[in-house]
Amino acid sequence: MSKTVLIVGTGLGGLSTGLRLASRGYKVKFVEKASQPGGRLNQIKKDGFIFDVGPSFFSMPYDFEELVNDCNIKMPFDFVELDPLYTVNFRGNDKKYSLYKDIDKLSKQFEEVEPNFKTKFTAYLKKCGELYNDTVDVVIKQNFDSIPGYIKALMQVNPKHLPVLVKSFWKQSSSFFESKEARQIVSLIAFFLGRTPFDTNAVYTLLSHIEFVHTGYYNVKGGMYTIVTSLVEELKKLNARFEFDTEIVTYRNTGNKLTSLIGKNGKTYEADIYVINADAALFRGTVFNREKFTEKRLRKMSWTMGYLTFYVGIKTKLPQVEHHNYFLGNNFEAYAKDVMKNPGTMEKPYYYVNVVSKHNSSCAPDGCEALFFVCPVPNLLYKTDWSDKDAMIKSIIEDFSERIKQDISKDIIFQMAYTPEDWQNQFNLYKGAGLGLSHSMLQIGALRPKNYDEKFKNTFYVGASTVPGAGLPMAVISSKLTAERILKL
Ligand SMILES: Cc1cc2nc3c(=O)[nH]c(=O)nc-3n(C[C@H](O)[C@H](O)[C@H](O)COP(=O)(O)OP(=O)(O)OC[C@H]3O[C@@H](n4cnc5c(N)ncnc54)[C@H](O)[C@@H]3O)c2cc1C
Repeated sequence: MSKTVLIVGTGLGGLSTGLRLASRGYKVKFVEKASQPGGRLNQIKKDGFIFDVGPSFFSMPYDFEELVNDCNIKMPFDFVELDPLYTVNFRGNDKKYSLYKDIDKLSKQFEEVEPNFKTKFTAYLKKCGELYNDTVDVVIKQNFDSIPGYIKALMQVNPKHLPVLVKSFWKQSSSFFESKEARQIVSLIAFFLGRTPFDTNAVYTLLSHIEFVHTGYYNVKGGMYTIVTSLVEELKKLNARFEFDTEIVTYRNTGNKLTSLIGKNGKTYEADIYVINADAALFRGTVFNREKFTEKRLRKMSWTMGYLTFYVGIKTKLPQVEHHNYFLGNNFEAYAKDVMKNPGTMEKPYYYVNVVSKHNSSCAPDGCEALFFVCPVPNLLYKTDWSDKDAMIKSIIEDFSERIKQDISKDIIFQMAYTPEDWQNQFNLYKGAGLGLSHSMLQIGALRPKNYDEKFKNTFYVGASTVPGAGLPMAVISSKLTAERILKL
């Protein structure tokens, strides 16, 4: 008889694990707190506008290819490559940097500010490529059963990378470039990990290799949520079942076997195997009441920043704005030092704007544009009062209008926002930390919450706060690592 699997959460990690198992004959059921699937990879559909809620692009598309090959299905969605990857704008400067993967086109952008940019960038990327190639298979895409096993894997990494381990991302990028423009633009990717380049280890410069050399960035035809709808469709073809508006709050066990999970609705859910896609640290603390994950311990762990995200529908077009844009100020170091912890309203925030309707005309009515703003902010450990969110949003919309030389405030016909409180309450993200646990050196590999339970032999974890970490490709890799453990049972 097929084994039954109960998956708690329908984030990308949960869906991909479910697909890998269902395609091998397991009977898969999902329970999800929210009323629609996707977790952070979600969608808002309102008044003719469609917005991606969280992720707006991804790298490493081959991990999705590995997933569909593993499940013996065809790729159920189409990738759209972004070119330029993104644009960067500095406050008080009309120049817009367009970040192309083509190194000659890219170098032209930096001609005036960074002499010999092409030579320096090539040297930087060579180092990033070596870091990527020397770590991806031995460290990132591996399950570790013990700390000695992890140390053994680390020892296989070429020792020439050791100096990088004691540097910050910022220090590493500054050793290749002199101009503030090149240093800041190259370091922006550290924010994708939910921290700043000043507190992110230089080993993550390997992301620049992924960004510029290896794969670039992709969107999906029809919007990012198509990933979720198409995976759910594939799962339904394999008879997977879904129950929404169901939050798991407690459990029953017999010895070292989990026997059921119990929802807030009082219902009991039984299976042979349980996969937790909810945050791997928070769930252990709040549902399994584990000593190592009490509120006091969770607080002491290192979490990523929060995000103020807002979704704006306007009744005009913005031909001058690309798909994917960063708007920076001119106090990068002071800003980065403040952004994780300063509870006051940041008068001049930095922000990212995604024009989702640029590649997907179906995401906005004719003549309209759907805009998604992301502003890095302190999580709820550092800022609990969000009564100033409207003031922050107003100041960002004013700043954006000024910088694109078009006042959008009079054209807004739809607007809604998520503060870290909303991110926390909707998706059970600890303190609204957008990317979950941070990737500090003491919270990666075998030191991250494990993808198998310490006590229950039939319980596993998948997603951003277990191995390997945050981001869509990592969620897919995480599902591979988790499924690997389950298939060995
Ligand atoms: C604003 C923002 C922008 C981002 N942009 C990008 C991007 O551009 N590219 C990229 O690659 N990544 C991006 N990310 C990161 C990416 O969204 C995440 O790493 C990824 O979606 C996490 O997937 P997951 O499967 O780990 O978990 P989640 O998506 O968090 O899914 C977990 C699910 O579990 C459910 N759940 C939790 N607790 C319970 C419970 N007790 N009972 C039942 N259900 C429960 C939740 O409701 C949720 O649906 C972004 C994140 C944010 C917040």
